[in-house]
Amino acid sequence: MSDECIFCKIAAGEVPVEKIYENDNFFSMLDRNQSHKGHSLVISKNHFDNTLELPSTLGSELIDCIKKTTLKLMKEYESGGFNLVCNNFGIAGQVVSHFHVHIFPRKKGDGVRIYE
Ligand code: 5GP
Ligand code: ZN
Repeated sequence: MSDECIFCKIAAGEVPVEKIYENDNFFSMLDRNQSHKGHSLVISKNHFDNTLELPSTLGSELIDCIKKTTLKLMKEYESGGFNLVCNNFGIAGQVVSHFHVHIFPRKKGDGVRIYE
């Protein structure tokens, strides 16, 4: 755990959040800046700077957390699809250096532009 890392603090329960789903190694929550309704994050419970540091053995738990979270979001926001985005390193837009995946539930005409 890094003392300065906000996601480590959240994972440790020092900053309370409402979790959408969790398993042994990952949890999910709504993003605090709702760039789009339902925009959520899947976050590793242990600190890894980015995808390159994430142990490959955690792959199935990561997919489990993404799938369970997305199914809940799609139901709640009556969404028909979703985008997954994972920013790695500052040059690619990563601001919080603790592994996380963004989930964007999508609706027709929602105006979300993921690739710009
Ligand atoms: P990045 O650009 O690193 O991929 O995105 C980090 C995301 O974490 C941003 O969308 C930001 O809004 C979100 N975030 C940062 N701090 C917090 C927090 O304390 N709580 C929540 N719910 N989201 C956060
Ligand atoms: Zn961390």
